Amino acid sequence: MTPFAARNQQIRLARRPVGLPVRDDWSLTTEAVAEPADGGVVVKTLALSLDPAMRGWMNEGKSYIAPVAIGAVMRAGGIGVVVASRSPRLAVGDRVSGTLGVQEYAAFDGAALTKQALTRIDLAAGTLTQWLNVLGMPGMTAYFGLMDVGQPKSGETLVVSGAAGAVGQTVGQLAKIHGCRVVGIAGGPDKCRWVVSELGFDACIDYKAGPVKDGLKAHCPTGVDIYFDNVGGEILDAVLTRLNRKARVVICGAISQYNNTEKVTGPANYLSLLVNRARMEGIVVFDYADRYPVAVAELAGYLNDGRVKSREDVTVGLATFPETLLKLFRGENFGKLVLQVADA
Ligand code: NAP
Repeated sequence: MTPFAARNQQIRLARRPVGLPVRDDWSLTTEAVAEPADGGVVVKTLALSLDPAMRGWMNEGKSYIAPVAIGAVMRAGGIGVVVASRSPRLAVGDRVSGTLGVQEYAAFDGAALTKQALTRIDLAAGTLTQWLNVLGMPGMTAYFGLMDVGQPKSGETLVVSGAAGAVGQTVGQLAKIHGCRVVGIAGGPDKCRWVVSELGFDACIDYKAGPVKDGLKAHCPTGVDIYFDNVGGEILDAVLTRLNRKARVVICGAISQYNNTEKVTGPANYLSLLVNRARMEGIVVFDYADRYPVAVAELAGYLNDGRVKSREDVTVGLATFPETLLKLFRGENFGKLVLQVADA
């Protein structure tokens, strides 16, 4: 079947959610697959990256990226295969990475087809799902957040929350490569066991089993030099009390706050930054887009020689998107959450 005989199933944002998104916040639509415009391509979606940031993109208001408009196809990064091309840059059969949206087919016209909009991927460097994880946006976040903002030095202690998640797993392993003592924070014994026994973290604190401050006392006896924060809230506050002089706090995300219907809870213990001459700095991965190839090459090398491992958690079926997304906010994903849309 040519793609133009197929129908394109899409998930659109129907309204702005309040708190945790519900099914009625979405609409499922079907439309014809467009023929490629001159200079453009049509990409069949194979797998989508489900990201905590999607919750923020659903909100009105100023952020680092425009909100998804009501009625628009939900924004999502993904991996696909070019099924029709009128572009000299991409050929039918090429595997590509880009912002495909939560839909089965994505059309790009010539003007939209910048080098960064769709990048050809090499499946010899990593599996398709690794291209959404270590070699994809979460891996880039881990790499630049750690290397540029965290600036690890051998012998330092790094703490990372969301340790068994997409960003966290790579942060911890990279910090080990750079000679740090690495302590993860994750929810539940299985995730904690995995980051220690499989990924080589030195310890992991199960924040659901007891106070994080007790775990920090036990596992960070010389204090914390780098805190890579994926969750915000009370965990951030607890780590702030253990900072060393000149510590770096990388504000990557605050998933504990994304579905708040009340104000975001800020850190009460921020004066620890003053006392310890420490700093807290945010990171937005897209700022590093022109340096992705360098990070991808380095991380692909680590995957290849076994110094970095990865875990992806794959759910099948575009129509499951509304429920599958919620796994992130319930801690039900174990590894990078991927939605498989079609067979590779
Ligand atoms: P992830 O860690 O793979 O999945 C989310 C995890 O967050 C869940 O599995 C859960 O793990 C944890 N979680 C959920 N609710 C929580 C809560 N209330 N308190 C503590 N932990 C909670 O997600 P990811 O894609 O790697 O993203 C991690 C963070 O990085 C997010 O905050 C995301 O927004 C951020 N991020 C930022 C950038 C950037 O450019 N700044 C780019 C990518 C991602 P547990 O089972 O361990 O609780």
